[in-house]
Amino acid sequence: MSADAVLSASVVREFARRLLAWHPIHGRSDLPWQGSRDPYRVWLSEIMLQQTQVVTVLGYYRRFMDRFPTVGDLAAAPLDEVLGLWSGLGYYSRARNLHRCAIEVVERFGGFPSTAEQLQSLPGIGPSTAAAIASFCFNERAAILDGNVKRVLARVLAFDGDVGTSAGHRQLLAHAQQLLPPADRMPVYSQAIMDLGATVCLPRQPQCGVCPLAGLCKAHRQDQVTHYPLKSRKIKRSSMRLWLLWAVRADGAVWLARRPESGIWGGLYCLPVYESSQALLQGLPERLRPTVQEQPAFLHALTHRDLHLHPMQVVVDGRRDRLGQGQWCKPSELPGLGLPAPVRKLLTVRAQALDQAPHRREGAAPAESDPGACASPVGAPPSARCSRPQAPLPIVHPRRVPGGA
Ligand code: SF4
Repeated sequence: MSADAVLSASVVREFARRLLAWHPIHGRSDLPWQGSRDPYRVWLSEIMLQQTQVVTVLGYYRRFMDRFPTVGDLAAAPLDEVLGLWSGLGYYSRARNLHRCAIEVVERFGGFPSTAEQLQSLPGIGPSTAAAIASFCFNERAAILDGNVKRVLARVLAFDGDVGTSAGHRQLLAHAQQLLPPADRMPVYSQAIMDLGATVCLPRQPQCGVCPLAGLCKAHRQDQVTHYPLKSRKIKRSSMRLWLLWAVRADGAVWLARRPESGIWGGLYCLPVYESSQALLQGLPERLRPTVQEQPAFLHALTHRDLHLHPMQVVVDGRRDRLGQGQWCKPSELPGLGLPAPVRKLLTVRAQALDQAPHRREGAAPAESDPGACASPVGAPPSARCSRPQAPLPIVHPRRVPGGA
């Protein structure tokens, strides 16, 4: 159908009815956030699920709910702790907005507001997330239009607008709004259409044979299911090389710097990042430059970008040496810090290599009195490890991670 055509009466009459009948038998009911009318739970799951698969989100969701059972607990927590728990989930602006939003919910509204319009005024909550919270928790007739739902609608309607443009999105949203059931059925309907998109109307191999909408679906009738949704704008994949200064001390501490808020790994603690090996060397005191050892480079794949990471290791003798902006962080502090996933992996690999190293020396002086030590929320005693890594460490195998993990 053309983007601005009128929906047929049978589609308007049948669409929601079929989904509502299908969901109690075939919909998902095993996810920890499902069936909840608590806007905090719905909001947290919706933010985590943006650009991220359910299987990845499950562990993070449980850990967040254990640590922050209410929006007030999340609002009261330090941002570093939130970033630490989020570490590895990618797209870190989501975590910063999550924290900001929790504070605003508490301070501005004294709890989650109940309309999609008010919800959209909060940091990190877009129209689809606002619709999800408002429909699940407050029965509002607000249409969700995330990627899965767009696919279902575009196929059923054989929608020939470009869903990647704001005009196409707007037109599809207008159609979606017409298909909604009465307010009291909104929670089940919203869950049903999301579940259908996630489990039946799959991007490459839709299961039309078991789909409750097959009798209404134009794309299925025309045998053109994978033709929809139309998306003309494709995001080009890019690649980038980065050099990581991996400075270690004899007591196992590593030098970490906080990343700027915007850009890659925004707001996280990280090995200092440089755009070339020369720039990295120039940033070091002259006496350390000849001792730098290049470690094997590895690939870290983000959704739209390949990062080629080159760790450059240097062992620093002086306990009070500083290497520009940053601080020494003891191994015991690393689990509580928000670190980019590949950096955490790199540091973990190193810790394992050190545990197995023949030169491991117990009883090296702890760095507790070091004024430059990392001010992390974790206060466990420092581990005492000798760190004189000479041999190249094992390569960290490429792994595709959605977002900025
Ligand atoms: S019939 Fe096929 S293409 Fe149409 S909504 Fe169902 S699964 Fe998707």
